[in-house]
Amino acid sequence: MDELILKPDRERSLQRAHPWVFSGAIAKINGNPLPGETVLVLDHAGNFLATAAYSPASQIRARVWSRNQQEVIDRSFFERKIRAAIQLREDIGYLPLKENQFSAVRLIHAESDGLPGLVVDRYHNTLSAQFLSAGATFWKETIASILLEQTDCSGIYERSDADVLGMEGLPEINAPLIGEVNPRELIHEHAIAYQVDIASGHKTGFYLDQRDNRADLMINASGREVLNCFCYTGGFSLAAMRGGANSVTSIDSSESALMLARENVVLNGFESIPQEWIEDNVFTRLRDFRDRRRSFDLIVLDPPKFASNAAQVQRAARAYKDINLLALKLLRPGGLLYSFSCSGGVNPELFQKIVAGADADAASEAVILRQLRQSADHPVSLAFPEGAYLKGLVVRKPD
Ligand code: SAH
Repeated sequence: MDELILKPDRERSLQRAHPWVFSGAIAKINGNPLPGETVLVLDHAGNFLATAAYSPASQIRARVWSRNQQEVIDRSFFERKIRAAIQLREDIGYLPLKENQFSAVRLIHAESDGLPGLVVDRYHNTLSAQFLSAGATFWKETIASILLEQTDCSGIYERSDADVLGMEGLPEINAPLIGEVNPRELIHEHAIAYQVDIASGHKTGFYLDQRDNRADLMINASGREVLNCFCYTGGFSLAAMRGGANSVTSIDSSESALMLARENVVLNGFESIPQEWIEDNVFTRLRDFRDRRRSFDLIVLDPPKFASNAAQVQRAARAYKDINLLALKLLRPGGLLYSFSCSGGVNPELFQKIVAGADADAASEAVILRQLRQSADHPVSLAFPEGAYLKGLVVRKPD
C-alpha cells in the first residue's frame, strides 16, 4: 500500500480520531496512489496512524477509514460500517420505518458514521445517496450493492451534485445509480405526508435534519398565526397546520419548492386551513411586513447556508442578524421565534450571540426556551465536531 508520511508533530488530530489529513500536514508520499485509493498514514517516525482514502485534488488530502492496522479496507469493511449505521437508527427508534407515520430516515451521515463523504437518505423504498469524497466514489459500486442488500430498497438515486465536489476534483452526478428508482417518493413524517423530489429537490430531496424540530413546533403551533420563512416544500408549514395553527404564511424564493408545498397541502387535506404561499425574497418581504405592521404569533427562520467557509462568517452573521431582528419585530407579545442556522462555520455560541444582538436592537427582551440541533439520525462524532452543523433557538417574546 502507498504511504502518506506526516510532518513531525502533525499526528495529534489523527490520534484523537479526527478523520481528516490536511495537505499541509503531509511531508511525503511513498508511491503514486490513485484518487480514492487506500493509503497508509504514518507519523514522521514511520508509525502506523490510520488507513485512509487518498484525495489528490482536495485540501483534505486523505480521509480516514480505520485506525486499526489489522482492519482491511474491503467489501466486508463497508458491510460492517453500513450495518452499524443501520443498527444505530434501529437503536434510536428511527428504524424500522412506520408506514403512514415515519417513512424516511438518514441512514448514513458521512464522517459521523465512519464513512467520510458518504450521505445516504432513505425515502420510503428509494435511497438517495451523495458520494462527496474521492474515497466514497472509489467504492461506489461496492457501497451501492451493500446498501441494496442491507435495506429492502428497490434502487438508489445518486445526488452527487453538491458544491463540495469541485473541491474534491469530482464531477457532479445527478442520475439513477442502481435498481428501480422513483425520482419522486411519498414519505410520512409525524404522520404528515410529503412528496419528495429526489431528482431535483435540494440536497438529497428533503431536510430530514429538521424532523425532531418540526415535532417541537407542532406541539407549540396550536391557535397561533404562523409565518414560515424559507419554507422549501412546506416542512414546518405542514407541521404547524397539523399542530392546529390558525393560519400559516410561508415564504420561499423557489417556485418549484412552493408548487410541491401546495401539493403537500392537498395530499394532507389541509386546504381549508387559512394559508398564504408567497414566492419572494425573505429579506425584502420581512421589511414589507414590518412597514405594513403585520405581526405573527410564531415565526420560523430556516435559511440556507449563509457561510460555506470561515471567510464568509462575518457576512453571514450580518444576514442572520438582519432576519432575526426583523422577525423579532414582527413577533407579537408571547410569540415564539424558531431560528435556525445550518452554516458549519457559525457555531452555537456565535449563533446565540447574533440572535442576542438582534434581540437587543429590537428591544424585545426575549428568552431562550430551547436549544435545538439536528435530528438523532444525523449523529455527531465527538471527534468530529464539524458534523454538528444545524443549530436552532426557540425564543419567546415576553407578554
Ligand atoms: N425549512 C425547510 C428547509 C429550508 S431550506 C424544511 O424544513 O424543509 C432553505 C430554503 O430557502 C430553500 O427552499 C430556498 O429556496 C430558500 N431560499 C434561499 N434564499 C432565499 C431568500 N433570499 N428568500 C426566500 N427563500 C430563499
